[in-house]
Amino acid sequence: MRIGAHVRTDGDPTGTGESLGADLIQMFVIDPQSWEKPKAHPKAAEILASPVDVVVHSSYQINVASLNNRLRMPSRQAVAAQAKAAADLGAFGLVVHGGHVRNDGEIDEGINNWRKLFERQAEKGGFPVPILIENTAGGDHAMARYFDSIAKLWDAVGEFGAGFCLDTCHAWAGGEDLVGVVDRIKAITGRIDLVHLNNSRDEFNSARDRHANLADGTIDPQLLTEVCRSADAPVILETPEDGMAKDLAYLREALG
Ligand SMILES: [Zn+2]
Repeated sequence: MRIGAHVRTDGDPTGTGESLGADLIQMFVIDPQSWEKPKAHPKAAEILASPVDVVVHSSYQINVASLNNRLRMPSRQAVAAQAKAAADLGAFGLVVHGGHVRNDGEIDEGINNWRKLFERQAEKGGFPVPILIENTAGGDHAMARYFDSIAKLWDAVGEFGAGFCLDTCHAWAGGEDLVGVVDRIKAITGRIDLVHLNNSRDEFNSARDRHANLADGTIDPQLLTEVCRSADAPVILETPEDGMAKDLAYLREALG
């Protein structure tokens, strides 16, 4: 099983991954709070040559579902630009949060906006890397918090080859039980391409997105290990940086 971590410093991401003993790393291609356009990475050659695999996490401002043109249009462009940057680094996917709308009456249209993202890109030959849609913890009108909503989303986007990223903190804090979670989500999406393995500082169904180190949160760490085992997908830790090396060691030991 390939195990790695999100690398927050962007200077030498795969080098950092190698020194952590990671099999893969996750990175951003722009400041995640910004709408910058990605530039060629100064270490692109090293990243491409590294034995450490790469997945890219898209920036946080993106909301593909939004009914607001002034947010949705730049979001579509950002997904396309960051997917291109991800491909340039040899990444195996681009993680994009499910996003949200303002009220329940907008949910169907939000889902349709996701479909349009894929439809329009299909006309241009599709995305150069798979788009991995990630479940989120919060929001009453989120596209990918509750699994019944993910099922509706998948009816709209599954045919375009959308991938799925399961975040354990988000599922737990979002109110989805982690016992049997892999089977339940695979029954909907048919696939899990990536696991974001995080414990949660907050209680079940708190709707709060605060990651904790594996042994320090409200989720039983054995349950987290079980999710890894059954998902059979690459694992990225997005836990607080101070405890990350310990988390990697814990996981390797637990997975034997
Ligand atoms: Zn995540």
